[in-house]
Amino acid sequence: MKHEQCEFCEGELEQRRVLAWFRFQGETIYIENVPAWVCKQCAEQYYDAPVYKQMEKIAQQREQIQNVISFPLAQFEMALS
Ligand SMILES: [Zn+2]
Repeated sequence: MKHEQCEFCEGELEQRRVLAWFRFQGETIYIENVPAWVCKQCAEQYYDAPVYKQMEKIAQQREQIQNVISFPLAQFEMALS
């Protein structure tokens, strides 16, 4: 399936390599250089089905991931107090 239009804002999509992340069994997995369709207006990302399958496979083999990065994870509500 080819994506052509954003489901949210009907913006135009372009193919790009992105840093993708998704939740898998309670963990957040980041994968670099994932081919995705990105909305030019709202930056929503879409993945083709084979790409998504591949990401799932990578997540299942996550013990083999060599690079672990750590970063501060802020809560959005912090700024309100
Ligand atoms: Zn959009």
